[in-house]
Amino acid sequence: MFDKILIANRGEIACRVMETARAMGVRTVAVYSDADAASKHVALADEAVHIGGPAPADSYLRGDEIIRVAQETGAQAIHPGYGFLSENPKFVDAVEAAGLTFIGPSADAIRKMGLKDAAKALMEEAGVPVVPGYHGSNQDADFLQEEAGKIGYPVLIKAVAGGGGKGMRLVESPAEFADALKSAQGEATTAFGNPDVLIEKYIQQPRHIEVQVFGDGTRAVHLFERDCSLQRRHQKVIEEAPAPGMTAEMREAMGRAGVRAAEAIGYKGAGTVEFIVDGSDGLRSDGFWFMEMNTRLQVEHPVTELITGVDLVEWQLRVASGERLPARQEDLTITGHAFEARLYAEDVPKGFLPATGTLTHLSFPAECRADSGVRAGDAISPWYDPMIAKVIVHGSTRRVALSRLARALEETQVGGTVTNLAFLGALAAHEGFAQGDVDTGLIARDLEELVAAPKAELRHKAAAGMVALGLVDAAPETGFTLWGPLHRAVTLSHSEEEFTADVQVDGPDRQLWTVNGETVLAERSQGHWRIEGRRMPVTSEAGALITVFDAYGLEFTVVDPLDRDAAAGGDRNVIEAPMPGLVKAVFAKVGQPVAEGDRLAILEAMKMEHSLLAARDGVVAEVLAGAGDQVEAGAALVRLEEEGDG
Ligand code: ADP
Ligand code: ADP
Ligand code: MG
Repeated sequence: MFDKILIANRGEIACRVMETARAMGVRTVAVYSDADAASKHVALADEAVHIGGPAPADSYLRGDEIIRVAQETGAQAIHPGYGFLSENPKFVDAVEAAGLTFIGPSADAIRKMGLKDAAKALMEEAGVPVVPGYHGSNQDADFLQEEAGKIGYPVLIKAVAGGGGKGMRLVESPAEFADALKSAQGEATTAFGNPDVLIEKYIQQPRHIEVQVFGDGTRAVHLFERDCSLQRRHQKVIEEAPAPGMTAEMREAMGRAGVRAAEAIGYKGAGTVEFIVDGSDGLRSDGFWFMEMNTRLQVEHPVTELITGVDLVEWQLRVASGERLPARQEDLTITGHAFEARLYAEDVPKGFLPATGTLTHLSFPAECRADSGVRAGDAISPWYDPMIAKVIVHGSTRRVALSRLARALEETQVGGTVTNLAFLGALAAHEGFAQGDVDTGLIARDLEELVAAPKAELRHKAAAGMVALGLVDAAPETGFTLWGPLHRAVTLSHSEEEFTADVQVDGPDRQLWTVNGETVLAERSQGHWRIEGRRMPVTSEAGALITVFDAYGLEFTVVDPLDRDAAAGGDRNVIEAPMPGLVKAVFAKVGQPVAEGDRLAILEAMKMEHSLLAARDGVVAEVLAGAGDQVEAGAALVRLEEEGDG
């Protein structure tokens, strides 16, 4: 076993790897960017070395610098985590050339799975069923359209270099093909620098079921399947293992296909073979097709760990250090059921806009496994993806596990930023999901109901008012009783609604709160406040932001009457960056007429692309940023001519 390893990553996955390394008596070296100097992964490591600026290209993607740090600190191996350098074969080559061990597959195995078209061709050869379609090299538009016709609509156009759901277009009919092809190629070029696409049959009622495999370079085993069908825009939201409705026969067939895929490329370490499954007619052993292989540890690996009892990171370290596969196929079994929900700092009602902020409060119930890269007091910075934690639960059956998930989400408390907690909670309570009726369209079909933000009740508004006016901890000796009844008021906003909360303080332990003509009583006994007879929820305060921890965290903002006029309206002439990020493309040209809703630029921030739209009809007066610019939040990117200017 290694004495010391370096973790070339940050956040949740860096912490996850370090915890296992520590348990195995392996020392750890963290690397970090300027933005992460005070982060949890730095604190957890035995040593930490600063490697550069906050942008990934200046730090976590600097392979040479990371290898230099490994050599200097005496680390024998590098764990890449996921994302960043984890699937970069050149990095693997460089690590090995430096005499170090890469904890993962060979560069050759990564290359073979790196492009979706080549991977499909290889899998076909190995006897793994692949999605019917065209994955050859001819990229002529007419030829591709002809192939689409042969496959039969609907078809999916996919960037061969794709990832994260980018460069994909669903095409329902021949008339839409040419435009969809162009836009997929455009997106693929911006995102991956490679316009090539493949065409696939679009599977109706698709389910995403993937197989966890583990190889030693020659032989491989599988650790069963995960169902990741709960997706929004092709990105996973809640994952589970095993897959609902899975039969022993199909599990066996999929497991064998996964092992065949891994052994065909001499796979070493943890990998995931992703299949698309036709869910329209139940699960059948001839109804699954290879989509791609992710040659790394996957975000959702914990659900597999909880049902198999295997620590996948421990296996990674053991196999990378030269040990044989830790288990034979027949040693592996499934116990119970597990779910994982990805908790993000994002504003769901605003179209899942990633958010930043300092986590003034963070707590998870003891009954769940919370894999997190942040602690209370840490910031969700604009530089990296806005994941706060993965909330993971296990239960003896799917029903038990799902109710534990629902409870764990209810009891998770995040203060200081908006989160997708209510959305995850609504999913956990979704009837079709409870019945195991999952497919990748579930979220989109019921989006409106799933994103409805929980509304605050009067007692929540009173609680927020108490925090805003500093009346929660008002000690009996502050002398209120001497002053007699005291009236105060504060203006707050909650999901676009503004209200004034008035309070009449009747002594240290009694307050009457009135909002919009309705009154509730807040009373304290034995040190605990009750509002309307119910125990006052836990709260947190971060500047003007107050969170009342009920209904997944209700957010209130204290409205400063002086600021209101400045904030109102906004300047509809200027298209601004809503957050710091990288300008990927600018479509606006000076003098060009635009209509409200036209896409003027694309900003990449926090691992997502954001289209910036014209707020009104008008003519472009100035283009203030270009592709490749790194911009601050609020930076003006495009300015329209004043209305009436001409
Ligand atoms: P999966 O299929 O497992 O969801 P993805 O390929 O979409 O995996 O990404 C894996 C994970 O890697 C992401 O969820 C994210 O946490 C991390 N990641 C990838 N790229 C970046 C990046 N540029 N900055 C920060 N994190 C990243
Ligand atoms: P990425 O590299 O972006 O993860 P994938 O090929 O894994 O791309 O596809 C992402 C998601 O798109 C899948 O999880 C699935 O929801 C959907 N998808 C992919 N291929 C098909 C298909 N042929 N039919 C229906 N849905 C598909
Ligand atoms: Mg995928």
